[in-house]
Amino acid sequence: MRHPAVEKLLILQDRDTKRIQLESDIKSAPDAIRAVEEKIHLEKKEIEDARAELRELETKKKLIETEIGSTQATLGKYKTQQSMVRKNDEYQALGQQIASAEEAIGALEEKELGVMFEIDEAKLKFAAAEKVLKDNIADHESRIATLREHEKHLADELAVVRGEVAKARESVDVLALRLYDRIATRTQPAISAVHGGAICDGCHLKISGEAESNARKGEVLATCDQCGRIIWWD
Ligand SMILES: [Zn+2]
Repeated sequence: MRHPAVEKLLILQDRDTKRIQLESDIKSAPDAIRAVEEKIHLEKKEIEDARAELRELETKKKLIETEIGSTQATLGKYKTQQSMVRKNDEYQALGQQIASAEEAIGALEEKELGVMFEIDEAKLKFAAAEKVLKDNIADHESRIATLREHEKHLADELAVVRGEVAKARESVDVLALRLYDRIATRTQPAISAVHGGAICDGCHLKISGEAESNARKGEVLATCDQCGRIIWWD
C-alpha cells in the first residue's frame, strides 16, 4: 500500500522538477545572448582592425610621396646649379649629388610600390571582413531576438509552474512537506521509487529490510536508509 502523501509528493516533485529546469534555463539564457553579442563584437573588431591597417598604409604612402617630392625639388635645384657652373670640378660635384638624389628617388619609388601592394592586400582583407560582417550580423541579430523571446517565454512559463508548485504544496500535509523540503534542498529528486529488488531509484543502493518493509506497508512515510530520500514501493 502506498502512503497517502506519496501521490501528492510525486505531483509536487514533478512540478518542482519543471520549475528547477526552467530556473536553470532562465539563468543560462543571458549567457547565450552574450555569446552571440561577443561574436558580433569580434567581427566588428576585425573590420576595424582591417580599416586601421589600411589607413596606416595610406599614411605611409603619403609620407613616401612627400619625400619623393622634396628629393625631386632638390634634384631640380642641383640640375639648375649644374647648368650654371663653369668650373669642371663644381660641375662634377653637382653631378654626383644629382646621381645620389636620383638613386634616392628610385629607392623611394620602389618602397612606394611595395606599400601600394600592401594597400591592395589590405583593401581585399577589409572587403572580406566587411562582407562577413554584413552576412553574419543580420543572422546574429535575429538569433538574439529569438533568444530574448525565448527568455521571456521561459519567464512566463516559470510563473505558471510556480503557481502549480504552490498549488501542489497546499495539498501535502505539513509533516510530509517538511520532510520533502528538507531532502529537496540538498538532493533531487527528493522522492524515489523502490522496485522488486529493493533498490532505491534515487541512489541505486539496496535499502535495509526495515526500510523495505516500511515502504511496502505504507503506514509511515518511508525513507531510504542509504540516501535519506522518501521512498515508495512501486
Ligand atoms: Zn536511496
